[in-house]
Amino acid sequence: MSKLRQNIITGEWVVISPERSQRPEDYVMASSAKRGIPLDCPFCVTNNNAYRFSIKEAETKNVYVIPNKYPAFSKADGVIDEGDGFYQNSKALGGHEVIILKDHEQDVYDDGVEITDELIGVYRDRYNFYDQDPTIEYTMLIHNHGPEAGASIDHPHSQLFASAIVPSYIQKELENTKAYFEANKKCVFCEMNKVEKENNHRVVYENDEFIVFTVFAARFPFEMWVVPKKHQPQFEKISAETQLQLADAMRNVLQKLNKSLNFPPFNYWIHTLPHHEAGASEYYHWHVEIAPRISKFGGYEMGSGVVIDVVSPEVAAEFLRKA
Ligand SMILES: [Zn+2]
Ligand SMILES: [Zn+2]
Ligand SMILES: [Zn+2]
Repeated sequence: MSKLRQNIITGEWVVISPERSQRPEDYVMASSAKRGIPLDCPFCVTNNNAYRFSIKEAETKNVYVIPNKYPAFSKADGVIDEGDGFYQNSKALGGHEVIILKDHEQDVYDDGVEITDELIGVYRDRYNFYDQDPTIEYTMLIHNHGPEAGASIDHPHSQLFASAIVPSYIQKELENTKAYFEANKKCVFCEMNKVEKENNHRVVYENDEFIVFTVFAARFPFEMWVVPKKHQPQFEKISAETQLQLADAMRNVLQKLNKSLNFPPFNYWIHTLPHHEAGASEYYHWHVEIAPRISKFGGYEMGSGVVIDVVSPEVAAEFLRKA
């Protein structure tokens, strides 16, 4: 029988309906592994296409950063509120950057932990850069892998969106974590870590500083959250040691995903405290969400906001752990 489950962080309901599909093995899919290097790849350093726009102070040995050519958010002067009295409308102020591994054949998961660590270090530096800008309310790092996950270019790259708004998903998380804190005087993420560790049905990986588990009320089959074990509200404040541990956790679970499902398309994103939300530090706890993109939302998901997940998170965890 299908089960309704509520996500304790967002308040969203999902339907876990494993009877609708067969086994996790059925999701082993057409690989989104890279298919050789195209000669005209715009992100390859040797082509110097995007690389000539590199933001020099952000560059490291293996990573460079460019402003997005078609930014969702950009710097602009002038009137901010362009509302017509009914609809709210304003310039999409902020920043939109692409964070690129120099080597086409490297990836977040398949090289030594040093590369992943270096990449995450660049994420952190760019967060801290936007933290200095009083007009930026929120910065979000996302990574798309594979065309089904929105990556139009094969070359490994992440994107950073810095906006003058706090995205609605983050607002939901803030509201729910605050409500939990007011009722229980505890951070719900810290409590969730304890529950996941105790019952151990959904834990996929852990190291000294991070626990990774499939999500009780997952919106995506094989969805995983990477959560710091210690209470930490802001990703951008992590130490070098924590950064290395995060790189280790990310690499490990992405490798497990690749082994289990034959290089599926996926996204990951970082959820951290908004830039000017210090009051929420007690109850907000940063984390990374990993979303394999092996199922598509139908009309019910779009119309209701309620997702039907056809793979049980417990079965998914077991399948991933074995890899
Ligand atoms: Zn390339
Ligand atoms: Zn916490
Ligand atoms: Zn989140």
